[in-house]
Amino acid sequence: MKRNSAALEAALAQLAAGQLRRSRTTIEGPGAHGGRSLIAGGRELIDFSSNDYLGLARHPLPAAAQGECAARYGAGSGASHLVSGHGSEHARLEEELAAFTQRERALLFSTGYMANLAVLASLADRNERVLLDRLCHASLIDGARLAGATLKRYGHADAASAERLLAQDPEATSVIATDGVFSMDGDLAPLPALAAVAQAARAWLVVDDAHGLGVLGASGRGVLEHFGLDSEAAPVLIGTLGKAFGSFGAFVAGDAALIELLVQKARPYIYTTALPQGVAAATRAALRVAQAEGWRRERVHALTARFRAGALTAGVPLAASTTPIQPVMLGSAAAVLSAQRQLQAAGLWVVAIRPPTVPAGSARLRVTLSAAHSEAQVDALIDALGEACTRAAAESAA
Ligand SMILES: *Cc1c(COP(=O)(O)O)cnc(C)c1O
Repeated sequence: MKRNSAALEAALAQLAAGQLRRSRTTIEGPGAHGGRSLIAGGRELIDFSSNDYLGLARHPLPAAAQGECAARYGAGSGASHLVSGHGSEHARLEEELAAFTQRERALLFSTGYMANLAVLASLADRNERVLLDRLCHASLIDGARLAGATLKRYGHADAASAERLLAQDPEATSVIATDGVFSMDGDLAPLPALAAVAQAARAWLVVDDAHGLGVLGASGRGVLEHFGLDSEAAPVLIGTLGKAFGSFGAFVAGDAALIELLVQKARPYIYTTALPQGVAAATRAALRVAQAEGWRRERVHALTARFRAGALTAGVPLAASTTPIQPVMLGSAAAVLSAQRQLQAAGLWVVAIRPPTVPAGSARLRVTLSAAHSEAQVDALIDALGEACTRAAAESAA
């Protein structure tokens, strides 16, 4: 790009012309109705766009733990983990995450984005291949790029397609990486089949369970528990802490050698400041609440079932997802933006997701349910969506 503002303005104008320019909304505070209510533009809206599946993001215990820890240790960690930034709250959280995921060790990262870069850049190099699901999260793609590996995409949730790619070059060393629950679609990766394909080819299988941990499985251990897969089947597990656990950060769990290699070699681990200890303390509290209060998981699934039944009856074009991620498939960027505006007028905050986050022609409203929602709020969403979808269909027909 040329070094002048006209070049920048032209790039921005091109986004606007395709209805793909994004904007941020400043959240001015929590709403008076608790749960997932918020204030934006001076109005109270009910938030159906967060990843706060268990309703822990505003729970008082993690917030209190964070405050108490900050009062003792200060607001910042002061250095990276390998210098002087690694504190006892980080160490305890790593032990608790290893126990929770039933792995030998866990390693804390500042973000899931960085955890994915670290894992792929450490497990693959430029002579090797990384196979990714066509709809996987952007951070896995960027991880494969950072590794310098040959990047191959297999068909969405299609283990046979991954197997065919492996068979094209049976001598090559490969890593297969996938979301456990797809972040924009809500469906599950076919992990039993992928694990079998990976094991047969002696390829690593990396599972990014950002949206399954805390939510899926009989005890909330995520998509691997849901499918009954052990660490032999899925040796590398990535989890994020800013979603169901309502806090911030991420981790990689696996056997001791894997984690030690990341500590020694992963640049996104080594060359960055350790996250504040207070954040780790908040996550520890959230993990305790999530484990003690299984009703939160049951509740978000019950609200999801209520939403699906009502929305399908109202003619809302839902995707085939049974998780709390419930995309409403409207297709065009114009249709989702129009539906978003109508929902906002009805007091509901549901964000339009457009390309390049999702493939062209598959723009959608990404509805997410939370244990913090009430039944009445879910019912209000169903009614408003029914009207918005009818109107969007009429507009696109006109
Ligand atoms: C959110 C998300 C990430 C990134 O995690 P952050 O902690 O927000 O950086 C990675 N993978 C998937 C599948 C995600 O949905």
